[in-house]
Amino acid sequence: MRERQKIKRSGSRLLVFLFMVLLGVGAWFFLGQGGESRAQDQNAAQEVTAAAQEVPEREAARGIKVLVLNYHKIDSKHHSLSVRPADFESQLKYLSDHGYHSITPQELYEGLAGTATLPENPVLITFDDGYRDNYTNAFPLLKKYGFKATIFVVTSFLDKKSQYLTWAQAREMEANGISIQSHTVTHRSMTDLSDEELRIELVESKRKAEEELGHPVDYIAYPTGTYNLHIAEMVKEAGYKAAFTIKYGNVDEASNIYALERVPVFHTANTNRDFLERINYTPIFEKFGWSKS
Ligand SMILES: [Zn+2]
Repeated sequence: MRERQKIKRSGSRLLVFLFMVLLGVGAWFFLGQGGESRAQDQNAAQEVTAAAQEVPEREAARGIKVLVLNYHKIDSKHHSLSVRPADFESQLKYLSDHGYHSITPQELYEGLAGTATLPENPVLITFDDGYRDNYTNAFPLLKKYGFKATIFVVTSFLDKKSQYLTWAQAREMEANGISIQSHTVTHRSMTDLSDEELRIELVESKRKAEEELGHPVDYIAYPTGTYNLHIAEMVKEAGYKAAFTIKYGNVDEASNIYALERVPVFHTANTNRDFLERINYTPIFEKFGWSKS
């Protein structure tokens, strides 16, 4: 009897402990979003390490799991949207050393549709907005490591603003494994637009990019990540095959093709450590329902 009580007590202590770990991980994840220092959250991170190691096998058994990375600028400015070229190179080296294979949005689409087989450890490397540094800083490193990538461009900015790409640079990159896709005409948040404005953003950016690049542009990333079901429906009507959000997580068979998850990479106090945590803990966050809606 006393033995059973002891078991009961240690059982409830274990439950309390697990609850505390959960709380810790939750705080670590949400506080981490802004790229602030997360020193006090390190303990929680260490506590989930053991669990993290078990997850990938179960994920793999379920089928497709694609890591979609989301970058913006690759430069040395201390801006949260900027990842330093040296850090970007370390991240590419990590992916290369760990057997990741880069894919295009079309390959992801076909993999999800079951019409093609994805390589092992697929990664889709994406950049939003179409900054000039994607050409000057990221492109040479992507070539060095033999990685494909995708840039979602704001079509009215190209050839117009010096900090953004030119269409000639976009074409040169496309000839070397970089896919150029749409990030709308003006980058206004879609939830602020009327249906008519929304239609123009979707259709006109697609038309302009197709005219400049000479091939179908079938993929889009939502500016600022904002979308809803109505917007997703309009994206489909405009002829896009898939759309990317900034909803945190890996893409798998349960993903909504018009609301695909990505893992954002920012400049932080320790960019590369945070990069590893983000790509390796994604399955944990998903498991606890923090990233899939
Ligand atoms: Zn953007």
